[in-house]
Amino acid sequence: MEGEALTRMRQLLKDRRRALLEEGDVPIERIRKDPSEIGGDEDEQPLTEMSQALASSRNRARTQELRLIDEAIARLESDPEMFGLCETCEEPIAPKRLEAMPHARMCVGCQSQVEDPVKRGPRRKLTDFV
Ligand SMILES: [Zn+2]
Repeated sequence: MEGEALTRMRQLLKDRRRALLEEGDVPIERIRKDPSEIGGDEDEQPLTEMSQALASSRNRARTQELRLIDEAIARLESDPEMFGLCETCEEPIAPKRLEAMPHARMCVGCQSQVEDPVKRGPRRKLTDFV
C-alpha cells in the first residue's frame, strides 16, 4: 500500500485510537461490602453483578482493540508495502473491510477460517479414498 491509501489508513487508525482513548474505561460499580446494606433491596445485587460483567467485558474488548490498532500502526510504519495485504494468502484485503476495521490482518476468507474452522468444509485426506 502506498500514497493516498496509506495516508488514509494511517489517519483512520489514529482517529480510531484517539476515539478509544477518549472513551476510557467504563466504570465498574464496586461490590457492596457493608453487611448492613445487604437485605435492603435484594433484587439489586444480581443487576449490579450483571452490569459489572458487561462493563468489564467492554473494557476488555476496548483494550484489545487498542492493542490491535497500535500493532497495525507499527506495521504500517515499518512495512507499508505489506500493509493491507492478507497475512495468510497475501491478497489485498477489501478496501471496505479496511475502512471498517483498519487493523484487519487477514482477508474475510482467511479470517473466517481462523475464527470458525467448521466452515472450512470437508477436508479430504488421501487416505479417505483408499
Ligand atoms: Zn487471505
